[in-house]
Amino acid sequence: MGNVLESARWNTAPLYASMVAPELEADFSMGASMTDGFHEKYFGKVASLSAKQLKEALVEMERLQESLVKPQTFAYLLFAADSEDTANKKLSQRAMEFGNRMSQELLFFDLELIALDDARYRELIDDASLASYRHYLESLRRYKSHTLPEREERLIKEKSLTGVEAFTRLFDEISSSFRYDFELDGEKQEMTGEELLGLLHHPDSCVRERAFTTFLSKYEEQSIAFGAIFNNAALDHSQDLELRNYPDVMGPTHLANELAPEAVEGLMKVSENNYHLARHYFQLKARLLGLPKLKNTDIYAPALGSDRRYTFNKAKELVLEAYGLFSQDFREIIGSFFSEHRIDVLPRPGKSGGAFCMGISPSLPPFVLLNYTGNLRDVATLAHELGHGLHFVLSQRQSMLNYHSSFPLAETASVFGEMLLTRLLLQRESDPKFKISLLCAKIEDIIATTFRQVVLTRFEERFHLERKQGLLSTEDICSFWWEENARLYGDSVAMIEPYRWGWSYISHFIHSRFYCYSYTFAELLVLSLFNKYLKEGETFVPKYIHILESGGSRAPADTVRPAGINFNDPGFWQEGYDFLQGLVEELESYV
Ligand SMILES: [Zn+2]
Repeated sequence: MGNVLESARWNTAPLYASMVAPELEADFSMGASMTDGFHEKYFGKVASLSAKQLKEALVEMERLQESLVKPQTFAYLLFAADSEDTANKKLSQRAMEFGNRMSQELLFFDLELIALDDARYRELIDDASLASYRHYLESLRRYKSHTLPEREERLIKEKSLTGVEAFTRLFDEISSSFRYDFELDGEKQEMTGEELLGLLHHPDSCVRERAFTTFLSKYEEQSIAFGAIFNNAALDHSQDLELRNYPDVMGPTHLANELAPEAVEGLMKVSENNYHLARHYFQLKARLLGLPKLKNTDIYAPALGSDRRYTFNKAKELVLEAYGLFSQDFREIIGSFFSEHRIDVLPRPGKSGGAFCMGISPSLPPFVLLNYTGNLRDVATLAHELGHGLHFVLSQRQSMLNYHSSFPLAETASVFGEMLLTRLLLQRESDPKFKISLLCAKIEDIIATTFRQVVLTRFEERFHLERKQGLLSTEDICSFWWEENARLYGDSVAMIEPYRWGWSYISHFIHSRFYCYSYTFAELLVLSLFNKYLKEGETFVPKYIHILESGGSRAPADTVRPAGINFNDPGFWQEGYDFLQGLVEELESYV
């Protein structure tokens, strides 16, 4: 057993032999002195650099960033693997402070680039020698026309502590203070909100409905606070839009995502035109559960019990095979994570929860952390995180400033990898019960990341537009929420009455405005790509590899264009829903 556990930990020695390795100390001090050197050389001088000099500076900046990120990531990995170890804690705290100090010292460089006047900026960006940094330079400039003079920016930042940020904190504090008394299996228990929401997967429909009702009741009790928080968040946003010259409520989000507003609106419209697919699924699910009609608390009910377990070795085999069916090169890249022990597998006390893949730099290999317990979800997570890993490895053709893929494409390889696994399992399995539960889980996953996020976004859009007209009562907000959800559910799902308050617990509305459509974007992009793969077969493979290899060297639309993909084409998005329709039809054939 000891052996299994030992090999199930990641080996960080290729970074540094240990935390007392002299190389680690040397890298900390070298990073600091390189940073000082860079500051001395370029501070206050960026505007006067020629294209050739700017290129030199950018190359130097990349070298600098690569050497700064190595000791910091090492510290982070040790801490993630065992946060209770005092030495790990100290090292990670030190690395964090170090990173903070270094980035403060380097901040001037981007700021001076942003401040360049337009003519000078154009000249530089059109210079052939800077071609490989074009996207980097362009993305820095995105905010120029939406940025206020420095003194005003500082004032806004300062006053927001007692303004909108105070309301955000209040939202967090109230939500996380909720404790619920809930009776389960004849026993009274104290539960957190998360635990109650987890009960939406409980096999008993009464438990599901009671859990969600109990959960929402606290939000209704605090309606005065939530009403004020939401109203203020929207008012603050509309003031911001005016101050910073944004034409519409989603403007800042589109800008951050580097997506054209029309592309996003097109995606939303195509999604709405496909709501009937979700409704059809909900009717199927009702049949599976033996119900005349679903309530919204039944959507995630387990369809047919499948409690199959997978040893980690079995999971590894499946995931390698799934990627291998797409490309042998992929299988090899994925395989190196196992053979080089770059996966930390099992849950342990003190280990960070969840799962992640850490990409470090073009010259260092990525690492994966899991909390593997052996259910099907865990196998999918392995496929997911290794998809990120694959993406990071392929992006290593790019230099440091172009290494991390831009946000809307960041989940492409991971979700695609999960699809490869689902497909393999469906082909491999003969037990119809298992196929049904596999398909239901996948379809519900897709509905939650596409249609539901569109509903959330439409609600959010409407809420912001209505708030511009004046203060909203919580009754108003509840009815917007109800109506937007009804658009999706139609008469296929009955919403329970307390769900009127369903808007009040969604932290994205407060923390990261209009973030929800990004989920739809990412998921549907992958479904459409996957559908293309099914149709085009082998010829699709190099196109897909090219997308992943591009890293963050271009804007999302430019990254996918060579593969013949146009975000403004509704037909492309429809392909994603055609794929979903295929899954629903497949499910129907087993029911
Ligand atoms: Zn991910």
